[in-house]
Amino acid sequence: MSRLVMKFGGTSVATPDRIRRAAKRVAREVANGHEVIVIVSAMAGKTNELVGWVNEISPFYDAREYDAVVSSGEAVTAGLMALTLQEMEIPARSWQGWQVPLLTNGAHSAARIEEIPTAYLDERFAQGMKVAVVAGFQGVSPEGRITTLGRGGSDTTAVAFAAAFDAVRCDIYTDVDGVYTTDPRITSKARKLDRIAFEEMLELASLGAKVLQTRSVELAMRFGVKVRVLSSFGDYDETAGTLVCAEDEIVESNVVNGVAYSREEAKMTLLGVEDRPGIAAAIFGPLSEAGVNVDMIVQNIAERGKTDMTFSCPVDEVGRARKALEGSRDSGDIGYAELLADTEVAKVSVVGIGMRSHAGVAARMFEALKDENVNIKVITTSEIKISVLIDRKYMELAVQSLHDAFGLETAGSN
Ligand code: ADP
Ligand code: ASP
Ligand code: MG
Repeated sequence: MSRLVMKFGGTSVATPDRIRRAAKRVAREVANGHEVIVIVSAMAGKTNELVGWVNEISPFYDAREYDAVVSSGEAVTAGLMALTLQEMEIPARSWQGWQVPLLTNGAHSAARIEEIPTAYLDERFAQGMKVAVVAGFQGVSPEGRITTLGRGGSDTTAVAFAAAFDAVRCDIYTDVDGVYTTDPRITSKARKLDRIAFEEMLELASLGAKVLQTRSVELAMRFGVKVRVLSSFGDYDETAGTLVCAEDEIVESNVVNGVAYSREEAKMTLLGVEDRPGIAAAIFGPLSEAGVNVDMIVQNIAERGKTDMTFSCPVDEVGRARKALEGSRDSGDIGYAELLADTEVAKVSVVGIGMRSHAGVAARMFEALKDENVNIKVITTSEIKISVLIDRKYMELAVQSLHDAFGLETAGSN
């Protein structure tokens, strides 16, 4: 019998009524002959609420306890989904991550999946169970404690289950009907893509398009899992949504295929840093140990043995970064004159695999931003993306103008 993974995001399980609606889709797939693994997120807004409580009580929290708290939202929806299915007379049972068990490493709050043993659920399916409902976003560490997989991690749970159980497909049900050229909440001109290549989706996700968690795309790419992103609200149709697939399964592609943004960024600058071998290691080593996710890095030209070092990181990690850098200065590992933090910046990026073979994308991007009078603070590039850091207040404007400049509203226009 074929296996199918269906993942329902927070808005799709936000109320008992929506859980019922999602369960009807599951019932249809059971009627189609599938054994279904349903992965659920917490109800919309629940995880934010839980994170808020943790921060209120302990700003530099113990990540083990953070995981104990924030994993609880998914436990509720998993049980409710199983109950809803049982009410529909479908043999269903729920499991939390540790019960399956979904085994992870010990990196609390950002754990990596190591293994999902399949024998137990296989046996349950063989005994007649039709739907296994599994709480997304969570697993268990080698020490036996609950871990979570980072925000948006239920997508990764879903793809990992699809790979482990050799599912025919992994359907990700969310509040938009697919992957768009940019976030449809930012511009109504955003266009739904029927297909998107793994590499592009990976870049879009890692640059802020939260429709899929980055790690879920990495896993899908590595294990060749067919991922479909679709809405749990629209009418059902076999071809609905966006298929995330290999590059060679896409007939026509633009040079630039998407615009992504990350709103909550910060720019930190160390002024008057000593310019000597090993200084970058002395700065970024402790930042990494403190769990600061450094993204863009710029080192200025040195003058009289001193240089300035700028980097970006998520805005909620500024406190951690400051503490780590001040600690390194106090212990004499680094010296600097001043530490500046600009917490009002955002990152905007254009992405496309066509950039590998086409020049001029950067110039076009900078021209579009110039026309809107948007000042660029930091630039980084890779083979298939260009990112800029700008003032947060211009973020929407920048996304809209780049979407227009590359003609993304129309297929095949750049
Ligand atoms: P879920 O709770 O279902 O996991 P998320 O909020 O994590 O949903 O992800 C869906 C959201 O991603 C959409 O509501 C949309 O605002 C946002 N998004 C950002 N970029 C894109 C994009 N390129 N295409 C589609 N949605 C996007
Ligand atoms: N509930 C978790 C979050 O909001 C995981 C998820 O929804 O994917 O980040
Ligand atoms: Mg999500």
